[in-house]
Formats: sequence, C-alpha cells, structure tokens
Amino acid sequence: MAFESLASRLQSTFDKLRGKGKVSEEDVTKAMREVRLALLEADVNFKVVKDFVNRVKERAIGQDVLKSLTPGQHVIKVVNDELTELMGGGQSKLAVSNRPPTVVMMVGLQGAGKTTTTGKLANYLRGKQNRKPLLVACDVYRPAAIKQLQVLGNQLDIPVFEMGNQTSPVEIARAAIEHAKEQHLDYVLIDTAGRLHIDEALMGELQEIKAITKPNEILLVVDAMTGQDAVNVAESFNNQLELTGVVLTKLDGDTKGGAALSVKAVTGTPIKFAGMGEKMDALEPFYPERMASRILG
Ligand code: GDP
Repeated sequence: MAFESLASRLQSTFDKLRGKGKVSEEDVTKAMREVRLALLEADVNFKVVKDFVNRVKERAIGQDVLKSLTPGQHVIKVVNDELTELMGGGQSKLAVSNRPPTVVMMVGLQGAGKTTTTGKLANYLRGKQNRKPLLVACDVYRPAAIKQLQVLGNQLDIPVFEMGNQTSPVEIARAAIEHAKEQHLDYVLIDTAGRLHIDEALMGELQEIKAITKPNEILLVVDAMTGQDAVNVAESFNNQLELTGVVLTKLDGDTKGGAALSVKAVTGTPIKFAGMGEKMDALEPFYPERMASRILG
C-alpha cells in the first residue's frame, strides 16, 4: 500500500507527542530527529529532508504552539501542512487549450508505465471529463509499442492514430494533430519512445516533437517505487524539455514515498496524477493534502 512503511514510522513518533499534556522544545527536537530518519529511510532527497525539518521546527517551536492546550496536535498539524506544501500544496490540474485539441506529450523511460498511463489518461479524460481523446503511437522503435497502444485503444474504444514504424515520430505527431482537428477531438495524447536510459538521441527526438507540436502539457511518467532514481530522471527530463507535470506510477506498491515527497521540491514540477494499479481506471489526480493525510494517518 502507498506510504505504508513511512506512515507507520511517523505514526509511532506522533503517538508519543499526542499523548502528552505538555510538550517541550526538547520533545519537538526529539520527534523531528525521528521524522528526519523516517524520511531518509523512505528515500526522500537529503536536502529536501533537511529543509523540511528546519521549517517544521521553526514553526512548531517559534510560535505559541507549545503553550497551546493541545501542543502535540499542533505540531502534527504543522507537519501535515508542510508535507502538503512539499507535494505542491493544491492540486495541479491538466491544461486545457482554448484552441482544441489540447496536446499532451507523454515521456518517460521504458518500463515506467508510459503506454499504460497514456491509455489510463485517455480513459480518465473521456470518463471523468467527457472529452474526446486521440491516442498517438510515436514509439516507432520498440516493435510491440504500437500494438500495445492499439490493444489499449480497442479495449477502451478510444481511437488510435498510427502510421507504422517507417514514418518519423515528428511526422506522425504532426499528422495526428491535423487528424484530431478534422475529427473535432479534444485531446491528443502522444505516446513517445522510451529507452532504458536517458540518451541524447531520445532527448533530441523529444525536443523536435515538442518544437513541432507545441504541446500544452509535457508529462513525465516515472515509477514511484524507484525513489530517488525517479527524482533524478525527472530532473534530467526537466532540464531538457521543461516538463509541465509528472505522473507517478505504481504508487499502489510504493510503501516509502520518497519520490512523491521529493519530485516537486527538487524539480519544481508538480505531480499531476498517480497510478494506483494496472487496470485502466487506476489513475487518480494527485491531491497533496490527501496524500499527506495518508502519511500521517
Ligand atoms: P512503458 O515501457 O513505460 O510504456 O511501460 P508500460 O506501460 O508497458 O508498463 C510497464 C508495466 O508497469 C506494465 O506491466 C504495467 O501494467 C505496469 N504499471 C503501469 N502503471 C502501473 C501502476 O500504476 N501500478 C502498477 N501496479 N503497475 C503499473
């Protein structure tokens, strides 16, 4: 379950505070030492942890928190607020172009869940927002990629645009947008090529697609379970492409939460969606507040 191990560690720390009638500065310092360790063990970025702990301490000790009637609860509220802030504060919604179609480029490394997420997002846009999406197969290198998207499209009854693997991805993307305009479709979701590692050729191609299609969104799909690796991948992609959002997949299996808690703080890019399972309906908008509550129980 998402955040399970982090949540249980933090909860035992805060149970101690909650039970106390009076909380001293020393109690807060001790609790924050435990929080710091729990976050580091959860694979949260080192600097993010340091800043976070300092902010909480400053707020929890500096104000009248310790003199209040329920100081333990106050400290927990400060932690809750700061966790929410760390993950972006409010919900970051998907952009909508005022001249349809809205173009969304889906990028990410192989295995992160990019193609699955592209299908899920199309399903979400149609089901929850009553939009008409088009799936576009631009991964012309991996033989099964086009087929995989077609299978998803068939299963969801959502159109898939493909031109085989002999046309360049830039051409395919351009033609797909024309097609979407003719068909009055609202969203063009471009499934780009994934690689095992970040390489220059891939980034070059993605930059070309970006230049031609002028996407409203560039969403990076990363596997939450890879922790700080996911954050490093996000940083590299962001440097090259200026991402507009991140989709964290496999949050259903991520007991730690290191990527969820670090991505926004490290890259400045908000998490827009979370993948919560393999099925096509297992995609949720990312609500920082709810995630923080999940962590603190
Ligand atoms: P791609 O190479 O990035 O396009 O990855 P795929 O879309 O092929 O997904 C790789 C694997 O991850 C597949 O087995 C998916 O079912 C699985 N997957 C994707 N998203 C999630 C998720 O949110 N939760 C879980 N548990 N599995 C996921």
